[in-house]
Amino acid sequence: MRILRIGLGGIWQETNTFVPEPTTLADFRRYQLFEGAELLAQLHGTGTELGGAIEAVERHRARPVGLLFGAALPSGTVERGAYETMLRILLERARAAAPLDALVLSLHGAMVVDGHPDPEAELVGALRTVLGPVPIGVTLDYHANVGADLPRLADFLVGYRTYPHTDMAERGAEATDLIMRALRLGRRPDRQLVKLPLLSVPPAQEDAAEPMRGVMAAVTELCAAPGVWTASALPGFAYAQSDRLGFSVYVAADDHAAARARELAAHVWDHRAAFTARLESPEKAAAVALRGPGPTVLVDVADNVGGGSPGDGTALLHALAAAHVTGAVAVLWDPAAVDAIHAVDAGELALPIGGRSDPLMGEPYRAAGPVRRYGAVSYVRTGSYMRGQRVEMGRVAVLLDRIGALVLTEHRVVPFDDDHLRALDLAPQRARAIVAKGAIAWKAAFAGYAAQTVYVRTPGYCPADLGQLSYHTRPAPLYPLERDRAWEATVTAALST
Ligand SMILES: [Zn+2]
Repeated sequence: MRILRIGLGGIWQETNTFVPEPTTLADFRRYQLFEGAELLAQLHGTGTELGGAIEAVERHRARPVGLLFGAALPSGTVERGAYETMLRILLERARAAAPLDALVLSLHGAMVVDGHPDPEAELVGALRTVLGPVPIGVTLDYHANVGADLPRLADFLVGYRTYPHTDMAERGAEATDLIMRALRLGRRPDRQLVKLPLLSVPPAQEDAAEPMRGVMAAVTELCAAPGVWTASALPGFAYAQSDRLGFSVYVAADDHAAARARELAAHVWDHRAAFTARLESPEKAAAVALRGPGPTVLVDVADNVGGGSPGDGTALLHALAAAHVTGAVAVLWDPAAVDAIHAVDAGELALPIGGRSDPLMGEPYRAAGPVRRYGAVSYVRTGSYMRGQRVEMGRVAVLLDRIGALVLTEHRVVPFDDDHLRALDLAPQRARAIVAKGAIAWKAAFAGYAAQTVYVRTPGYCPADLGQLSYHTRPAPLYPLERDRAWEATVTAALST
């Protein structure tokens, strides 16, 4: 029997268009940019979408064919040339590898590219033109802002069901199983997308807490129903000037796909008022850390590095110092401070840190104390989030200030694991306070030993209060920015083959 050949690739970024710096090809190169056999070698065995897909393709006794996969850390709008270069290589490799029997693509779904209004749909459409009507399965981040074209061009959309995202490999395997089933049966189910006029913020989207716990339970029930191939509920990403904003619901089923999607969407809409976040001031947060058992995780919500914020906000450092908190640990992106510390060999230093990228990120914090210097630090994630992925922190300096260990990095570091602190001989489980520049993803790193958590109202590019942002491009009306509005679920994209 002929061995099926399954193409694997994608371009992956969550774009925060409120961040002024563009995302460049160098940003993709620095994070992940693999082609051909190297893609398979790098991602095989990792807890990523394509890592899961490679294993599933092998389980189906088919052959994985690496095309191109590029991923960059969340940041500003992707430069046109960066996207066009990666897309060109992806298409050249698909052409060279043709005929392929099917494709599995890892897309984030909330990428914004200068000059390309729906880059994910365009990518799938371009591959379809090269490869013809082969089954295409697409994995999407929980924060995907799905437009109307993507579900029409791809055969299956498979969104993550967890936040923190710990099911990436499972979803890659699921997308593979779906395309193999379509190949075996020689048909596709009906697919339906419902887009809700609902904008939600990360602190209110945790899958283990309401309202998403109930939504995901409904998705799980739906997926187990006879005739249903897959279903997704995607809360989306609010920090983009985009006409694709909003919550998406997707169902692929042999029958009643539209009714099932409408029912799931109605469940989400009924709970719209529960998508809110409770925030404390930095002063209150520092007082809680001072009094309570440690470690207290102080969630610097708006300076969420995983949502595109720079990670050099100082609001919590000032508050911790004012409250005389000691024993904290905080990571800041500050390449200029790293340079300054590495340029001298003093054992103790005093210098301003953080608050450099934008006045929005607060006044620099005046740090002082013994310093430790590290050359290029890289580590491999060992936790539940993208296990096996190598992370480059660049050069690092740790300054032991009166409030605690301040970790200054050359590259932006996301708190998806605590390996980045252990690589520097820091023990976050013994800290009084951990400043986590994230919304929910930090739970994959610190939730196991956090004694308490405070979500803090800080400045940054990912505020939980959407009133802090001014949109010039977005769908309207959109709850909760516009509140009093009746809405009834209708299908945005209905597809049958
Ligand atoms: Zn996400």
